[in-house]
Amino acid sequence: MRANFCLVCGSRLNYEEIDGRERGRCVGCNRIHYDQLIVGAGALIELNGRLLLLRRVFEPFKHHWGLPGGHVEADEDPQLAAIREAQEEIALSLKSNGLVDAYFFDDHPKGCGVFLVYRCEIVGGVMSETAEAETPTFFVRSEIPRNWREGATVRQFSRGSARHEHAATPRFRSRRAFKREVFL
Ligand SMILES: [Zn+2]
Repeated sequence: MRANFCLVCGSRLNYEEIDGRERGRCVGCNRIHYDQLIVGAGALIELNGRLLLLRRVFEPFKHHWGLPGGHVEADEDPQLAAIREAQEEIALSLKSNGLVDAYFFDDHPKGCGVFLVYRCEIVGGVMSETAEAETPTFFVRSEIPRNWREGATVRQFSRGSARHEHAATPRFRSRRAFKREVFL
């Protein structure tokens, strides 16, 4: 998504080649606008061999299944963002046990981004539906829905390797590539 106006002073952006790429320079304050990746964070919650997924209630990807999670605020630790989103979406209090996956996505209408997945455990609250998510459900491996969003992580879970991911170094991967690899 390409900006037309300066976020600082509101003047028009003039696109030109800067540092080897086309970037917008403000005709008013001369500021160069560098496009950034979207950053999202989610919680992988496993209980008695089941993985918690919920259904999205907002576009894009409305009604698709996914992990509790969402956008990371500009001044927020992504780990805390994953915990906050789970609290907002399914009313559970979580504790994070660290990063287990990270992947690149390019299918969001607002732009490309990275999604960071934290393994979390439930420390309080009663799981319930909220205005932000539908049908939170713990799935056994064989019942994980096809239209998930966090393909890489769910694939690891469905192969039974997710619990061994603590020591693994997360790699950025294409979710689309994983979908092809696993289901087609
Ligand atoms: Zn400006």
